[in-house]
Amino acid sequence: MEKGVTLERALEIALECPFPRKTESVLLEEAAGRLLARDLASKVDDPRFDNSAMDGWAVREEDCLEIGTVLRIVGTSQAGSSAIPSVGKGEACGIMTGAPLPEGADAIVMIEDSASEGKHVTINGPARPGYIRRQGENLREGSVALESGSLLTPAAASLAATMGHGEVEVVSMPRIAVIGVGDELTPPGEPLSEGAIYESNTYGLASMVTMIGGAPKRYEIIQDNIDSLREALNEAAETCDAIITSGGVSMGSWDIVRGIMEQEGEIRFWRIMIRPGGPPLFGTWMGKPLFGLPGNPVSSHVVFTVLVAPWLSRSLGANDHSGPRMGNRVRVVMEEPLKGAPGKLCMRRISIRQDGDSLVGSTSTHQGSGNIHSMVAHNGLSLLPPDTDSKEGETIDALWLV
Ligand code: AMP
Ligand code: MG
Repeated sequence: MEKGVTLERALEIALECPFPRKTESVLLEEAAGRLLARDLASKVDDPRFDNSAMDGWAVREEDCLEIGTVLRIVGTSQAGSSAIPSVGKGEACGIMTGAPLPEGADAIVMIEDSASEGKHVTINGPARPGYIRRQGENLREGSVALESGSLLTPAAASLAATMGHGEVEVVSMPRIAVIGVGDELTPPGEPLSEGAIYESNTYGLASMVTMIGGAPKRYEIIQDNIDSLREALNEAAETCDAIITSGGVSMGSWDIVRGIMEQEGEIRFWRIMIRPGGPPLFGTWMGKPLFGLPGNPVSSHVVFTVLVAPWLSRSLGANDHSGPRMGNRVRVVMEEPLKGAPGKLCMRRISIRQDGDSLVGSTSTHQGSGNIHSMVAHNGLSLLPPDTDSKEGETIDALWLV
């Protein structure tokens, strides 16, 4: 077991744990938000044929060099039509946006630049070849426009359809157990006894699992009791692909997640050099990856954001540039001084906003690791290297949360 690892090392160790990636075929209409499991090649050219980018007239450019030229109308090309008249010398064919370019035409005149009467049209503006969208100029048949590991965003779903795919192969959603541990915890909505608090972490953790492309399975609260915890972990290992617990991993003698993992599981690392969120452990229970997150609400959210999310997303084969993620790395100018942490990467809650050409960061609420409101009141995390404070006006690295 490694102790007190950096965040990068923690991710490396977690990624060494095998995670079975399964795939399945789904209808495109159900594929939004999923990860593509295979490269998608286009079944067609896009555009499929030369067509007009404007409503107007398909003409021969050389016939329209003079303003005021009168051309004979030979018919109309509409989107979806097949029998299209060809255009010869001194002729024009009406054309709609997206309609096929008639044989013989090599330029388009916009409708606004024309005046038609009966069988003739007067050309009052330029005839432009640039108004023709050429066959295959966006995509060639057979070319891969969506790579395995890309997220099916709304635009990607439309692109998959454009390429002719009604069904796509996606990564199956892994089942992730989310287990909250602690004697003091009570489900929200129920009466609180003396000393009890509402259990909150599993709600946020489960929803982050969904954001990254997993299927969470939230467990009922587990008391600080080794037998109930063992039973829950066994059940989770049998029915899920990975396990996330919250609580019970610090130094206290009640910290039973760490206790049971030490005695009966396998711990790969314990403690990460980050603040907040120092106490996590990672290991396996019955061969399944297990993240033991801290109980403090901010800590568990932050550790999920910077460790579990990238682990899950990479284990599923997500692309670095287009996979699901919890935030984007940015540079922000801080409006206030920010205190770092000795020996630890310091992730203070900050609010990031665009101000002119730069991103500006500020902090407002109390930063305690128990204050989940600080994660709602802010939209970012500072990434202050160990032993580094930042001054007012200094530019720092930060994570802009999505
Ligand atoms: P622990 O890591 O178990 O020592 O918990 C640290 C702090 O987080 C304690 O104040 C707990 O009451 C609190 N806590 C632990 N688990 C949860 C949870 N699931 N929801 C809300 N607070 C929690
Ligand atoms: Mg506890």
